[in-house]
Amino acid sequence: MVSEVGLPAIVKACVSCRSTRHRPTGKIRVNANHKLLDVWLLICCELCGRTSKVPVHERVNVRALDHERLVKFHDNDPAVVRQLTMDATLAQRAGYQLDWTGTWRLDTDMPFYDLQRGDAAPHEVIVRFELPAPVRVEKLLTAGFGLSRPAVRGLVDSGRIRLPLPVYAKAREDFTFVVVTASPEHA
Ligand SMILES: [Zn+2]
Repeated sequence: MVSEVGLPAIVKACVSCRSTRHRPTGKIRVNANHKLLDVWLLICCELCGRTSKVPVHERVNVRALDHERLVKFHDNDPAVVRQLTMDATLAQRAGYQLDWTGTWRLDTDMPFYDLQRGDAAPHEVIVRFELPAPVRVEKLLTAGFGLSRPAVRGLVDSGRIRLPLPVYAKAREDFTFVVVTASPEHA
């Protein structure tokens, strides 16, 4: 399980200081102009505290927005603030990066699985993501099994660990992989 420790930093230049790191203020601003709405996520610079706005919706017809969601915008719903802060699509559209450093930790039944155990059946391991932090698969395996990178690569190359994505790829959502236990001649 990749567990959430914090929210990613929003990386964009501050207009007031040299810092590039922002965090959400916890507030969402909604402006209505007749039937048209603007919705912003309010963020502030980690260094000087200057507040800036990330456009979530611009001049959208009030009818186009789900009513419940609109209520949550008005209420500064923490779950919506969290979701907007982590939204990679929003980040891309608004032209900023997300820094996921320090936002997650790996919680496992340590180790994931005893690789030396002689069970015959291949064993499925499910990795769950509590937040969409991009984490290199190799890093999950080394931490999860308590093994070195070469040892993990060796297990993948020999087919003992069967992955649905490359070992060097970054995962950001749940996936399942298969561990094939040691055959008797290796046990
Ligand atoms: Zn600043």
